[in-house]
Amino acid sequence: MRIPIMGKGVTLTELPNEIAVYFEVGNCQQKCKGCHSQHLWTTDLAEWLNIADMRKYIESQKGATAVLFMGGTTNWDINPEEFLERIVKPLSKDYPIGLYHGDAPFMYDRENLTWIKTGRYIECQGGLDSPTTNQRMYYKTPLNEWVDITKWFTRKESK
Ligand code: SF4
Repeated sequence: MRIPIMGKGVTLTELPNEIAVYFEVGNCQQKCKGCHSQHLWTTDLAEWLNIADMRKYIESQKGATAVLFMGGTTNWDINPEEFLERIVKPLSKDYPIGLYHGDAPFMYDRENLTWIKTGRYIECQGGLDSPTTNQRMYYKTPLNEWVDITKWFTRKESK
């Protein structure tokens, strides 16, 4: 199984207290107005990576503590169960996994996930750091409870 990856790297800001290796998935069909990542709307110039390729890249990023999938996670025309079984589940044995998910009905088994971000980007409401955002970030605690941690990302209004 290969996934169209449009970008990859390391982020210190997307998952709290984690050094997260992120993979941006192509063919995002959500087409959110004001999207800052329109390069994810296609698979042009994608690298089609399998689990071995991803693992190799993650391991090359010394100190990585988590893995994040973002962009077209609901739209690449690949069965989410297959994605969970063949990519997320094996990686989750070594790293906690985050998944950004848009407005589509939630189609993933959450067992192997640790963070889930839901809601499409609505320009006038802003992203996760905006006090008026529609988006939500959830975290699974060590007790296996999902909690809404959106407020951790909300920027403070300047006075
Ligand atoms: S889900 Fe993300 S990448 Fe896709 S259109 Fe919306 S903001 Fe852009």
